[in-house]
Amino acid sequence: MNGLPPKPRNRAPRLTAVAVMPWLVAPGMFLPGCGKARSAEEGVTFNVEVERVRNGSTVKIKPDEKLVYAGLRAPYEHEPLFEEARKRNAELVEGKEVRLRFDKEQRDPDDHLCAYVFVDDQFVNEMLVREGLAWVRLTPTTGRYAKELQAAQREAQRARRGLWRLAAPSAGEHYPADPKYGNFHRPECAEADKIKPERRVDFKTRQEALERGLAPCATCAP
Ligand SMILES: [Zn+2]
Repeated sequence: MNGLPPKPRNRAPRLTAVAVMPWLVAPGMFLPGCGKARSAEEGVTFNVEVERVRNGSTVKIKPDEKLVYAGLRAPYEHEPLFEEARKRNAELVEGKEVRLRFDKEQRDPDDHLCAYVFVDDQFVNEMLVREGLAWVRLTPTTGRYAKELQAAQREAQRARRGLWRLAAPSAGEHYPADPKYGNFHRPECAEADKIKPERRVDFKTRQEALERGLAPCATCAP
């Protein structure tokens, strides 16, 4: 047993923190003034080894689990800066022991582990956003570091780093978004048609959607 949250279909509670860092768990360390009650799993940290980096926001950890970084999305293979983001992420975590910290849910809607990643005192998720190698992607279950990640993205945008030095895509008339998955689309995207009406939000500009913590869809590249 490695102490990680159980895989799907084996959800019996067997959480065992490998190492709980008191400085990490102390409420308010990262979110000053945020003292609301958290679920039992929140704030628990696990030490795991990163076996291989797949892209700027997905890694394979030992033993054989896919881990998706919480609160952001890095470029996929067909998108610009995929390789830069992958390389940078590898530099930061590949072959290293990292500390995972969970948000409200330990798994994303695709049942992959979803967490914030720390190496020593480095907050990897935030670094990748600050360097312009990933978009902030907030969902109802990944808001824990919203302030930090959004500030990092504003800094990257202002400094025109990485993704923010690329020419902006042509402007659309509006941008339908699905807050559940933390992304926004062009109106003609097939994915936009699948958004449940009660969840759908329409933004006038791309920037407005980005500032709300939504990431551009990888298919329609809004
Ligand atoms: Zn789309």
